Amino acid sequence: MTAVTPGLVCAHHHLYSALARGMPAPPRTPTDFASILELVWWRLDTALDLEMIRWSAMLGALEALESGTTAIVDHHESPNAIEGSLDVIADACAEVGVRSLLAYGITDRHGPEGARRGLAENERFIRAGGRGLVGVHAAFTCSDDSLEAAAGLARDLGVGVHVHVCEGVGDADAPRRLAGLTRDDWLLAHCVHLPTDHDLRGTILHNPASNLNNAVGYAAPARFGNPVALGTDGIGANMLDAFRLAYYLQRSTDVTCGPDTAWGWLATGWDLVPEAREDEVTWSYDPMDPWHVAFTPGIRPLRIVVGGETVFDDGRPTRVDPDEIRAKAREQAARLHARL
Ligand SMILES: [Zn+2]
Repeated sequence: MTAVTPGLVCAHHHLYSALARGMPAPPRTPTDFASILELVWWRLDTALDLEMIRWSAMLGALEALESGTTAIVDHHESPNAIEGSLDVIADACAEVGVRSLLAYGITDRHGPEGARRGLAENERFIRAGGRGLVGVHAAFTCSDDSLEAAAGLARDLGVGVHVHVCEGVGDADAPRRLAGLTRDDWLLAHCVHLPTDHDLRGTILHNPASNLNNAVGYAAPARFGNPVALGTDGIGANMLDAFRLAYYLQRSTDVTCGPDTAWGWLATGWDLVPEAREDEVTWSYDPMDPWHVAFTPGIRPLRIVVGGETVFDDGRPTRVDPDEIRAKAREQAARLHARL
């Protein structure tokens, strides 16, 4: 029994984190979200070069396809390899056959010049025809000037901004910092500590696995009036797993809720990357409805058609060699881990 659906959309990913698995333990154990950023992610992202970025994106795109995800909304940061990084990621996704909507997350953590170069990478990529948004790491790592510059550039380019909002308690000031800047085409990742009554416009990106792993709390996204979409925050791109976890988490706080709400969050992804609606994923299971999928682990794609081309058949990608990608990614991961 098989069923066909559109391609799934991962609405918040960090493809660069695909090489993080197996990394050496940090110099001391992080004790909260702020120290997880400092001791894990901000050490990892500064060590990235373009070759590592290429193979992390190839691996991440491959794993997306193997999960029936045909579109990735990515948020990238590599402070020592900014220029051209979005092209590298776009090319890798295209090579595997996955759609991408990219952003370089600017920050003032490396001074205003770092933020300016990040903004320039967003602008260069989008003006050259790349499918992108303007990326901002988060309000708490950016100056007011940088936030205004990012919002202004996005307006000029006719695209939204992809930004982390209130992921941890350290970013509780974000609603005030972003007041008046957000628009409906912004993507607001996490919003765990965003008050239910707030003035931010845009789609809220809920990342249940990441929020649990970082112990930041439950976003309870059903409380918001904004549209909500689902992401992984870099922990793969299996959106059926993300849907299940989003449902179980919601259920853990309200035993009367059904899976339809989380299923709707999955569908919001198609508003962000509408072309994915035309993609076709033939699944190993039928029917693909919320009550079945919520309680059926292990559903996998058998065949995937993206933009009219079969990019996955008999459970394998058609355009790339998965064994080669995994071998190259492992080599690059070893180079990356040696720098940490
Ligand atoms: Zn994120």
